[in-house]
Amino acid sequence: MAVSKLQAVCRGTCLCRYSGCSNRLLKDMILSLQGLNMRPCSTVMHLLLRCMRGCGRHSRSRMPRRLRQPMSYIKLIFKSLYFNSLTNSEVVLDCILEPVFWMVEVITRWFGMVFVFLVVALTSSVVFIAYVCLLPLVLQTYSLGWMMWHICYGNWILVMIVFHYYKATNTPPGYPPKMKNEVPFVSFCKKCVIPKPARSHHCGICKTCILKMDHHCPWLNNCVGHYNHRYFFSFCLFLTLGCMYCSISGRNLFIDAYNAIDQFRHLEAEKQGVPVTGIGLLIGIVPSEGVTGKGVQEISQPPYTYKDRMFHKSVIYMWVLTSTVSVALGALTLWHAVLITRGETSIERHINNKEAKRLAKRGKVYRNPFSYGKLNNWKVFFGVEKRSHWLTRVLLPSGHTPYGDGLTWDIYPLKKDMLPV
Ligand SMILES: [Zn+2]
Ligand SMILES: [Zn+2]
Repeated sequence: MAVSKLQAVCRGTCLCRYSGCSNRLLKDMILSLQGLNMRPCSTVMHLLLRCMRGCGRHSRSRMPRRLRQPMSYIKLIFKSLYFNSLTNSEVVLDCILEPVFWMVEVITRWFGMVFVFLVVALTSSVVFIAYVCLLPLVLQTYSLGWMMWHICYGNWILVMIVFHYYKATNTPPGYPPKMKNEVPFVSFCKKCVIPKPARSHHCGICKTCILKMDHHCPWLNNCVGHYNHRYFFSFCLFLTLGCMYCSISGRNLFIDAYNAIDQFRHLEAEKQGVPVTGIGLLIGIVPSEGVTGKGVQEISQPPYTYKDRMFHKSVIYMWVLTSTVSVALGALTLWHAVLITRGETSIERHINNKEAKRLAKRGKVYRNPFSYGKLNNWKVFFGVEKRSHWLTRVLLPSGHTPYGDGLTWDIYPLKKDMLPV
């Protein structure tokens, strides 16, 4: 009786089927039931659980490997909530939101590569247009002096952008040691389970603690920390300067291209062939003799060709893109320049603000312990130890390591002018 019930239950619930069940324990128990004549009800329930557990194992083995981890994670959350006497609404809310944070982190990590690709693709397209559209006009229009200035300045900016972007993306930001050490620490990271030195913070996207962490930059697909902060800032600075250069240089060219495109559309609508005006002036700082008469007349192109339209559209694209980036990235660069002047990172700005307000209520003034004075902060940031370093380490590509090891920091008061510059 008991055996037939068990067989029925097993056939009804167990995917493995009784006759071919590989669950050895279950088979053994059925056989023992036949021999011992046990009471059926309680035994069936117990065996049912064992059978389901066995089926769980079977289905788990069939489950794709990708799903196993999230499933075990959900089980763990459920068990930790159910069996935890300290569970309250906040803990439950945190657990519910945990997958949301996880998704955001995964998406940010995945989009990191997309953002890097975007930066490379957009910068390359602007450089291509500058070389194909702007440079021939510069060579035809300007005097030798202006021509040399354009070529030197444009290429210098380009080299600085490429160098600092490459270094910012490929230089690890710096990590606290994971082994036992004597480095003084200020707190403990619950996620990495390691002591955190001063100015270190945990990055949820990189899943590790970062020395002197500023922020996680999706455009670099990397954290900005102690060892690549200078590369990040220099990249922002030179990209802003480069965009401003393209925007100012192509201003008049953009106006003419816009008018030409507008005229094309207008004329196409009317089905008439009216010649379009010349390509126009290049730059606001151009010498007056360079843009008058012959030069501009000679470079005027006949309208309505595919090449003309592509030329004008490329100029408009370049100008709109570089102008937008100039404003947006310029604001960001300015903000970071303010932070560097104060000797703070983006994260420390929030922490210091809170601390300043807290102390202000007590009638005290907060002072940032990592600020060495406005000029010295810049010297420390760029690694300037002598005057020539302003040229070799700031205005030219330089791969020198930053001041300090990022683990320990000199605390004020220091000498007013710590570096003889
Ligand atoms: Zn950590
Ligand atoms: Zn990160």
